[in-house]
Amino acid sequence: MYRNFSIVPKIMFGRGAFNQLEDVLAEKRSEDGFMVFVLDEAHKGKTLEKRLPMQEKDMLIIIRTDHEPKTEYIDDYVRSIKEYSSTLPDGIIGLGGGITMDSAKAISLMLTNPGSSADYQGWDLIHNPAVYHVALPTLAGTGAEISRTCILTGPEKKLGINSDYTLFDQLILDPELLAGVPREQWFYTGMDCYIHNVESLEGHFINSFSKAYGEKSLELCREVFLGDHPESDEKLMMASYFGGMSIAYSQVGACHALSYGLSYVLGIHHGIGCCIAFNVLEEIYPAGVAEFKEMMTKHNIVLPKVVTDEVSEEQMELMITTTLNLVPLWENCLGADWQEKMPRSRVRDLFLKM
Ligand code: NAD
Ligand code: ZN
Repeated sequence: MYRNFSIVPKIMFGRGAFNQLEDVLAEKRSEDGFMVFVLDEAHKGKTLEKRLPMQEKDMLIIIRTDHEPKTEYIDDYVRSIKEYSSTLPDGIIGLGGGITMDSAKAISLMLTNPGSSADYQGWDLIHNPAVYHVALPTLAGTGAEISRTCILTGPEKKLGINSDYTLFDQLILDPELLAGVPREQWFYTGMDCYIHNVESLEGHFINSFSKAYGEKSLELCREVFLGDHPESDEKLMMASYFGGMSIAYSQVGACHALSYGLSYVLGIHHGIGCCIAFNVLEEIYPAGVAEFKEMMTKHNIVLPKVVTDEVSEEQMELMITTTLNLVPLWENCLGADWQEKMPRSRVRDLFLKM
């Protein structure tokens, strides 16, 4: 069976596109309505916050980024909007990195679907369309701008709300918004994209659709991280989008499975967690890991060591279980007989190498 998948219907791209945000929103504004701007805390009190085209009734939510989104944070954000107004907002505008974009998606879904966001972690559990939602990425690499999921950590699991309704209605890709990202964060999030491509292209689920996007994205990543190209922000933004499109029709692999274990148990953030995991995966992705190391050297990146001595046996078991529960990722990476190839002991050895 082939997947019949939706994509973001409206996209604007270009330096300074942010200036057209209000024109885009104007079409959605109702007479007494309001918009909710969901802003990454990195921009609190900074130029971007001051430039937001906020009108009198509009609401601003600052998204905390110390932890990746938890279902309880989303439920709190939604509660605050409901307290602010008895009517639904005309739109949610997310501006920030993956945490903020995923939070904007989840908020827009939870305004129209009852209960807690934890009830919807899974596939196609959402029944009601979301409030209109827009993304303006200010960090590039995750592909969260184009994906049909928003990854949340709930009381029982780290799993996204996967649905066609999760997709943004509008993207505004303005490379100017990437200015000021700290170098290490730029690298880690950019590598998330590079790794998406390697895992997609080298997986068993690869097909011409995913290959077309993945190869182009990989080429752009090489220009950004190994070359010295002008327009590298433009290139990275498109690499992120294309990488997201590639995995949308294939799957990620071992590195993402391991990074989920790191993140769920130790709270290590996605980009850096992927780098830490990928760094020990020569045996699975030899060429990709060699090139990744070349990129690290070029940008003087030294990865922190996961102090496995401080990980209890119970935590290690939970990390292994979390990792191995990601069945489609392992099927993509190692094929149908993945369980024989990746016993618990091998996952443990990989964690111990990090
Ligand atoms: P992030 O959202 O974790 O942000 C990293 C840091 O950069 C934060 O401190 C943030 O405040 C800051 N930041 C953001 N923009 C900035 C800017 N312009 N200048 C300075 N600082 C800035 O980073 P990320 O790597 O983009 O996102 C990771 C998150 O994305 C994770 O929660 C992960 O689960 C999620 N993710 C989602 C998908 C998806 O398909 N939905 C895919 C991959 C990752
Ligand atoms: Zn990723």
